Amino acid sequence: MSEVRVRFAPSPTGYLHVGGARTALFNWLYARHNNGKFLLRIEDTDRKRSTEDAVRVIFTGLKQLGLDWDEEPLYQSTRIEQHRDIVNRLLDSGSAYRCFCESENLARQRGEQEKRGKFYRYPGTCRSLTNSEVAERLKKGQQYAVRFKLPPGRTKFNDMVHGDIVVQHDELDDFIILRQNGTPVYQVAVVADDSYMGITHVIRGDDHISNTPKQILLYQALGLPVPEFAHVPLILGADKKRLSKRHGAASVTEYTESGILPETMLNFLALLGWSPGDDREILTQQEMIDAFNFKRITPKGAVFDETKLQWMNAKHIFAMPALKIWQNIQPHLAEYCRQNNAAPPDESFGLRLVKLFGDRIQSFREAPDLMSYFFVDPTNWDEKGIKKHWKSDTPEHLQLLSRHFQDIDKWGAEQLELCVDNTAEELEIKRAKLIHPLRLVLTGRTHSPGIFEVMELLGKDLSIKRINTGVEWISIK
Ligand code: GLU
Repeated sequence: MSEVRVRFAPSPTGYLHVGGARTALFNWLYARHNNGKFLLRIEDTDRKRSTEDAVRVIFTGLKQLGLDWDEEPLYQSTRIEQHRDIVNRLLDSGSAYRCFCESENLARQRGEQEKRGKFYRYPGTCRSLTNSEVAERLKKGQQYAVRFKLPPGRTKFNDMVHGDIVVQHDELDDFIILRQNGTPVYQVAVVADDSYMGITHVIRGDDHISNTPKQILLYQALGLPVPEFAHVPLILGADKKRLSKRHGAASVTEYTESGILPETMLNFLALLGWSPGDDREILTQQEMIDAFNFKRITPKGAVFDETKLQWMNAKHIFAMPALKIWQNIQPHLAEYCRQNNAAPPDESFGLRLVKLFGDRIQSFREAPDLMSYFFVDPTNWDEKGIKKHWKSDTPEHLQLLSRHFQDIDKWGAEQLELCVDNTAEELEIKRAKLIHPLRLVLTGRTHSPGIFEVMELLGKDLSIKRINTGVEWISIK
């Protein structure tokens, strides 16, 4: 096989949409897996939207995700003359014709057809104009668009995701390739540029499937080699509608700014529609490159699951060296302590926290939220937890436990667990009846890492103080 050359061709919109990033990723993975080239083309013919800032956002987003590209990015707007040349070639070869129909008339006809529930097709009015008729109109300075002369028959292609796709040409019409205002349409620009860039595989969103037969017809009419096509499924929100800003964040940077690691984002996006073919869900960049192929891309839309994204972020954080995790959470914890007049943790305590919380850390910036009770005493206790676990005999049980804790010489998780077990036995109750209220008074919450490890880290004095405060305050509520 000759060298694989793929491209990501975003139209700048002001942000890098997660769907766009996923398309870029699939292109990038395919290129890297095949030792090919991943190219960028900025489709900036809409000059109003394509500001320098909007383009920069795309570069920054791709770089942040580690999606490095080969060669210089191509700006579509610099090639409008070449796009016009393509139109002229099609006119010269008889594959296209000038259409002098007034656009208002056509719009009215279209409106009438659509009102009757019919699909509008251009009736081919100008298809049969003779050369002299055309020349005469041109002489009069009549405005024209250029239309592609659709050959009879059908177009078939084998999509790398969807398999065979066949379109009967009578479902299409003689589509415009050059507008009355002299600008070539998207179909022409894409074919001209993909061909110029030597693109071998066009990998893009499903929403472009209906463009592909038209583009194939253009390649054929121009005598250019037709690339392979892969249309990847759309990303859907939880309501199964196409993911958009309506669903909350739809831009990659919003996620990375909220604490999602770039490596998580990549891993997550890759699994939206693709799987490595085994149970693995946490993959590094290299693992994805190695395993990537189109056989495992499903044609169905893939739902963007925020909870899974958070879970995956925790797994990627957990895979980092403890020191690195600590260095990342330290500034957030220091700030939290400053705001709450608490002593900030040092590195050795920090590393113990990292170990204790393990894969519970879903994002660095949420560390203070997760770990607050190591710095500030709880002053309110989870209401639902109280309702569920705080019984009339709880204060008495905890007081006994607190007395037993006093007697422990070596304050460690193992000794604490033994002490709780012995106390439960002494009271003839299940140990859960002690552990749940214990967690409430120590952390204010119903969820935490193992409570004995939490107590070990809190230390003896603080643990006992919190049990006593909890018993006093929760009881008189
Ligand atoms: N610029 C188009 C888009 O952003 C992509 C065109 C293509 O990939 O062929 O949807």
